[in-house]
Amino acid sequence: MAHMHSPRFLAGLACRVATCVAALGTGFAAARYTDIARVDRTVEALARRVAGPSVARAASVEAVRARPTDEGALGADAPTDEAAVREVLGGDDELTVSLGLAPALRDGMIMTGSTPHRLILFSFDDGPDRYTTPKLLDRLDQAGVRALFFLTGANLRGENAAERKNQQIARETVRRGHTVGSHGMNHRQLPLLSDFDVLSEVRQTEQVFERVLGGRPYLIRPPGGAHSPRIDRLLAERGYTTVLWNLGSGDFQVRTAEDVYKTWRAVFERRKSLGERGGIILLHDTNSWSVEAFSLIVQELERENCALLGTHEELYDFVDDPALFHTPRADASPSAEAPPVVLPPEVLALRQARVRAAAERRCAPAR
Ligand SMILES: [Zn+2]
Repeated sequence: MAHMHSPRFLAGLACRVATCVAALGTGFAAARYTDIARVDRTVEALARRVAGPSVARAASVEAVRARPTDEGALGADAPTDEAAVREVLGGDDELTVSLGLAPALRDGMIMTGSTPHRLILFSFDDGPDRYTTPKLLDRLDQAGVRALFFLTGANLRGENAAERKNQQIARETVRRGHTVGSHGMNHRQLPLLSDFDVLSEVRQTEQVFERVLGGRPYLIRPPGGAHSPRIDRLLAERGYTTVLWNLGSGDFQVRTAEDVYKTWRAVFERRKSLGERGGIILLHDTNSWSVEAFSLIVQELERENCALLGTHEELYDFVDDPALFHTPRADASPSAEAPPVVLPPEVLALRQARVRAAAERRCAPAR
């Protein structure tokens, strides 16, 4: 390209800068996020209890297949090659993948992660990356943590070797019990786009998800966390729940896991001073140092749990179900944020008993 500084380039640069500012600010401004797979599993479990496995399966798959009827010109020719997807995914895998799309968490208020509880939900943006994401998936398994992944559609488009590998990783991500959502097609800052272009970004990503995972996503994290009442309305009209975060890590600005950890810790301490003791962590699985930082954060919180065991305080609880952060939108404005997550006492007691038992097994006895 002869014109390096074409309007498109400059717009892209502006987006990048805006992304950095927005993402840095989020530690202090409030981004949120959701616990989706959990709702799905609950729905599935309930259906199973009532009607047996085959009905539960059919109901879940049906829910995923249910698509808005307002598919416009862009959506009409979506390449939904379900037969091919089914062939790739096989029987039970298909259901697992469907649940990973979290249809039960659609139409929610904007998730920010705000909570007075020590609930920790990890989220990873911008992937998949064929070098770093597989390592992260293994780390998550080792730690027994399930997370949210907001996938950038462009990484999954096309048929070259790298793109096919990314598609495989996306399917593997949901197979391992994680939840996936949309991060848009080209990582554009949505508020800078026209309505038409916003919908184009969103629908193209849906088409890619349908082709790769067999269904559209229901959670979305706008790039940079950038949104506006107009964007909120457009996303709500398509059934999305916007997921932000409250525990940023600045992992796009530094190059070592230790630096990511330090930034995350500083943000977390600031949040605590505001009455938030947990929430949604934002990392990028496209960075090797972020993968390492994930392990550092888990190890540190588990260490703190060992110290907390002797007290009557709440322990850190790694949330594997984004449903905990989900509040139905109902008649509220599309820009309404979910209230801080406060667990019913009986739910908190059950979860804490489980965390406490695990910590007692894991923590070395005092020397
Ligand atoms: Zn991003």
